[in-house]
Amino acid sequence: MTTGSPTTARSRRRALRVLVGVVAAAAVLGVALVVVPMLRPAGPRPLFQLPVTCGETWQLGTYPGHDDYDVDLFPIEGEAWGRPVLASYAGTVTEAGINGSLGGRNPENPEGPRGRGGGYWVKIDHGGKWETQYLHMLEPPLVKVGQQVAQGDQLGLVGSTGNSGAPHLHYEQRRGWEKVETHFDGEPSGITTDEREYTVQRTSGNCPPGVS
Ligand SMILES: [Zn+2]
Repeated sequence: MTTGSPTTARSRRRALRVLVGVVAAAAVLGVALVVVPMLRPAGPRPLFQLPVTCGETWQLGTYPGHDDYDVDLFPIEGEAWGRPVLASYAGTVTEAGINGSLGGRNPENPEGPRGRGGGYWVKIDHGGKWETQYLHMLEPPLVKVGQQVAQGDQLGLVGSTGNSGAPHLHYEQRRGWEKVETHFDGEPSGITTDEREYTVQRTSGNCPPGVS
């Protein structure tokens, strides 16, 4: 007799059933860990501030084909090139690099070849499913993925990398997977559609503590 005893065969089958059970339980747990946070409602809107220097007035605008809720920021005085881009609110950096391609537009060559997408960009997770993103920056971001930033920390410089016609800051606020109307200092921007050109001016309240 060379075959295994019935007892051994039975214990092998039992071990296989246990293994299948453990794998199935792990799969269910894994799905739950991913899905449950996605179903959780978003937290309250953070008190976002304009992503530019305290006290400066900038034009916020959109144009047909931009995308609903997207905001382009241009300073109303002085050059846009190289102006500081600041965190709207405290959070954790989740993207800091190149989106699409850079192209070749810079202060020395403002009409250089256009890139694709967002160019040098940063994305911040503010918790409670809230995120902001900052596109077309001139140089590599000044922050790294995983870094904690405070409101007002500098992320980079205004530029025209990626698919950008002129130096400006493209900015978005997101709740969950959705873009939402941008709010600054608790006030909505009024930019909710890209059906027509629209601009509004706002003064930055992104000020160090104790300054207003
Ligand atoms: Zn834009």
